[in-house]
Amino acid sequence: MRLPFTLLIDPVPADSLRQNFDGTFHEMESSAPALRVGELSTQRGDGVFETLAVVNGHPQEVEPHVSRLRNSARICELPAPNAEQWRAAIAYAVARIPQQGEIALKFVLSRGVEHGPAPTAWLHASAAADFSGVRASGVRAITLDRGYPRGVAERAPWLLMGAKTLSYAVNMAAIREAHRRGADDTIFLTTDGYVLEGPTSSVVLRINGEYVTPAPSGAILHGTTQQSMFDYLRARGERVDYRDVTIGELRQADAAWLVSSVRLAVSVVVLDGGPFPADHPLTSALNAYLLARTA
Ligand code: PLP
Repeated sequence: MRLPFTLLIDPVPADSLRQNFDGTFHEMESSAPALRVGELSTQRGDGVFETLAVVNGHPQEVEPHVSRLRNSARICELPAPNAEQWRAAIAYAVARIPQQGEIALKFVLSRGVEHGPAPTAWLHASAAADFSGVRASGVRAITLDRGYPRGVAERAPWLLMGAKTLSYAVNMAAIREAHRRGADDTIFLTTDGYVLEGPTSSVVLRINGEYVTPAPSGAILHGTTQQSMFDYLRARGERVDYRDVTIGELRQADAAWLVSSVRLAVSVVVLDGGPFPADHPLTSALNAYLLARTA
């Protein structure tokens, strides 16, 4: 029961009939070197990843995360991950980390060492930051141009939009730009004024009583937390929809949230320097629901 916890994984092909993955996982000492210098993930960001939350020993939304890893691998033309093996690796790690508190579990599939025989895969669990403050108080967000018009994912699939690749340098730069402008986080827009997503979160708005999020058309990730939020809202009888959302609609919305697996739901309380309406009771009920999930 220790953190951080690192597991190297020998990827088994997706079409293997193997049922037992014992021997394909190797626990690493946290201080031991785990990656080779030639690793393409570190040299070129050429790989895909997922981060899921483990809350009090319960890994959250394993299936949506594994299925998104497979989708990202498909977009990046990486060998298809063996879903059974990834489920087993997650279970193996979860059984060996603390059973209390919030833990971020990241899993990575990279193209491996240049000219090497196989992809490299690993899983890393570390204590999550304490997000209780920001869940209660919300975030100041800015809108930033992502530099692409709507529809770019279909026209230029080599941009790998819609894949959760290891190349997050742009996403991190957008968060630093928010900090420079006295804000906490960013909402990306297309050059023609449509809402996309945050650098590490999905965007959900309430417009005239309906909850909407941009359709995961291929330009953005299909957020697992956003899907859980929609399940919660549907169960409460609320209307939800996936559709294009313009910057004008964002500015007029009666509430907006940035939602993601580990930070969970945070309200936007300031947008581009001006006050923005927030629904704190709903945010707190939603986070309580998300934290109570046992799968
Ligand atoms: N969009 C981007 C670009 C992300 O990086 C993330 C999560 O890290 C999300 C959306 C939200 O996805 P999830 O709710 O599955 O964490």
